[in-house]
Amino acid sequence: MDRDKILLTPGPLTTTLRTKLAMLKDWGSWDADFNAVTASVRASLLNIIYGTGSHVVVPLQGSGTFSVEAAVATLVPRDGHVLVLDNGAYCKRAARLTQLMGRRCTVLDFDEAKPVSAAVLDQYLSTNPTITHVVMIHCETGAGVLNPLQAVADVCQAHSKGLIVDAMSSFGALEIDARKTRFDALIAASGKCLEGVPGMGFVFIRQAVLAGCAGQSQSLAMDLFDQYIYMEKTGQWRFTPPTHVVVALHEAIAQFEAEGGQPARLLRYTRNYDTLVSGMAKLGFKPFLDATVQSPIIVTFHAPDTPKYDFKSFYAAVRARGFLLYPGKLTQIETFRVGCIGAIDPHDMTQAIHAIELAMQDIGL
Ligand SMILES: *Cc1c(COP(=O)(O)O)cnc(C)c1O
Repeated sequence: MDRDKILLTPGPLTTTLRTKLAMLKDWGSWDADFNAVTASVRASLLNIIYGTGSHVVVPLQGSGTFSVEAAVATLVPRDGHVLVLDNGAYCKRAARLTQLMGRRCTVLDFDEAKPVSAAVLDQYLSTNPTITHVVMIHCETGAGVLNPLQAVADVCQAHSKGLIVDAMSSFGALEIDARKTRFDALIAASGKCLEGVPGMGFVFIRQAVLAGCAGQSQSLAMDLFDQYIYMEKTGQWRFTPPTHVVVALHEAIAQFEAEGGQPARLLRYTRNYDTLVSGMAKLGFKPFLDATVQSPIIVTFHAPDTPKYDFKSFYAAVRARGFLLYPGKLTQIETFRVGCIGAIDPHDMTQAIHAIELAMQDIGL
């Protein structure tokens, strides 16, 4: 029986036994069988955003951040000027990697409890013509806020600015339609809502901007343009691929499609979310965010307001009952997070809440 602990974390997350079993085989990176898996994964990914014919998808080895870094390096010219819409920890990370790669970077600050504002962006772009690219995070996994992708994309299009979207924790669960929403690049990864294992990211690039990306990256390994050209020419990854991760993602995508694709996944995650929030309310836990700005991906809860509480012992007590929680990522107040994503259903969530209830008794809360 599959008795792994259930991961209530936003990646790595709980995967199905079928996805895990897909990794029990060795693959040659030059072999036609493996190249066919890569091609199939790429075609399926483009399909999910309705981007076939208008966009390309470039996979890259590494965790999700590697692909964000690669996207900025590949898309933004060395004399470009990036504006990061900042309402949380992942936005700050995007700004930092942009600066470290030597691109001019300006940060537009927003409240971490609220979505970024397309109207404020519109005004900012009107008076700051040097900006070439805007970077936004679709779902800010730090607190769990859902940012207005369509409205930001519309403003960027109106001002003829490039848009780079970190959709790491939303892709596959929330609707992203490249026919309606204009972006230059959009980034996600294997180990989030597609429910694969971690180890690779992928970047959708609009074909119209692709040719202009040649030679812009200051990094050899992270150059998505080179990776794309090589992959198109040979069907292979430029450097050693994470073979087991790729075949696991292939298997995970087959299950994603069989479940009913993005709408079905959103429905299951929303049920997980509803079960979580109502169950936690009965135990006295309050979400940090207003429900209207909350994504059904991850929920930040206020920690119990008592000196008896510390995250480490709370975590350990819940862990002993088979569930892994996630620490908070807010700077000012004590919180913890619970992910609603992964191969879990409302029944698992109910059990998780029961485990949390017993853990609270353990530590005398
Ligand atoms: C998970 C995640 C990333 C990538 O994090 P890694 O630890 O590098 O995989 C980036 N942005 C967001 C919004 C995420 O949720």
